[in-house]
Amino acid sequence: MRYIEEFRDPKAAKGVLAAIARVTDEIGATVEKPVHIMEICGGHTHAIFRYGLDRLTPPGVEFIHGPGCPVCVLPMSRVDECVDLAERPEVILTTFGDAMRVPGTRKSLIQAKAEGADIRMVYSPLDALELARRNPEREVVFFGLGFETTTPSTALTIQQAAAEGLTNFTVFCNHITVPPPIKALLDDPHMVLDGFVGPGHVSMVIGTTPYDFIARDYGKPIVVAGFEPLDLLQSVLMVLEQIRDGRAQVENQYARVVPKDGNPVSLAAIADVYETRPSFEWRGLGEIDESGLRIRKKYAAFDAEAKFGIGYGVDRRVVEEPEGCACGQVMTGRIKPTGCPQYGTGCTPERPLGALMVSSEGACAAYWQYGGLRGLEAAE
Ligand code: SF4
Repeated sequence: MRYIEEFRDPKAAKGVLAAIARVTDEIGATVEKPVHIMEICGGHTHAIFRYGLDRLTPPGVEFIHGPGCPVCVLPMSRVDECVDLAERPEVILTTFGDAMRVPGTRKSLIQAKAEGADIRMVYSPLDALELARRNPEREVVFFGLGFETTTPSTALTIQQAAAEGLTNFTVFCNHITVPPPIKALLDDPHMVLDGFVGPGHVSMVIGTTPYDFIARDYGKPIVVAGFEPLDLLQSVLMVLEQIRDGRAQVENQYARVVPKDGNPVSLAAIADVYETRPSFEWRGLGEIDESGLRIRKKYAAFDAEAKFGIGYGVDRRVVEEPEGCACGQVMTGRIKPTGCPQYGTGCTPERPLGALMVSSEGACAAYWQYGGLRGLEAAE
């Protein structure tokens, strides 16, 4: 299959791995003094573990798992608000499957559904729009969640709802943006980061220019990467080569998909429908300036926060993390999932304590799925 098989070629992978080993040696990185490379995107975390790249690369290369899983960074207060919305008798709450099992303080959406709330899983916000057309007597709310990858489809759906004059469709907007949390991590004096593997899908929308500050202001290399094993290995090599050469640049390994200036149609839809919130809360990272989006006033009729009187600035809830939960430390790369005292004991995919264990892009889910208790043994 074109663009798949050639990026899974074992012979080519061996060649790139040999080059990675050579450059790691040239840098002088060892297991005691590793190079810390953060893969920002949760999809990359899963690909790294799925293909065993963490074990194939030299011990002098340490992967730090970043905050690029939108379900994982959603604060519990927003899950609670979503459950409250779903429990309103007039509401049909629609959501991607990923968010169903994320624990709130009272319950998850799947528990609310089991108790009778009308919650439906959809594959696209357009499915939610169709439900609104078919159920004019009900309020259909779409749980809008995700980075710049999913933001355009929600924006286009709101534009479509406006064009049709629908009055029973709203979006509970939790869309967030990637560059601000990277800046927050780089500003953290306790973080040790030598370079970044940049997100592929997000960059398809925003391009590579928004990452210029990482190289220019912080002197760190970043390479935007694809999701196949050779994509990731080549990106790691490109980051290592920059470190070895004393360079800090934004490079694009995923040029077959990511244009430098992004996707103009998607960016126009985002700009039309959304504006930046002054700040937004991230689980594990706290409030980050200008890191979240809200729906512009001209589309207020499609804003669940405006329609139902909830959300930021109205009924701001601050919710503490559950006792013993180390999600914040994992998401900021301070510890590995296996370093969480709850991993495999108080927190499993069947009985999750944090979103990282149930999201398809969560780091704890990656460790469990591809390492399981093996990962725990390795940490001991
Ligand atoms: S094991 Fe569970 S509680 Fe611990 S960091 Fe992972 S998701 Fe959070």
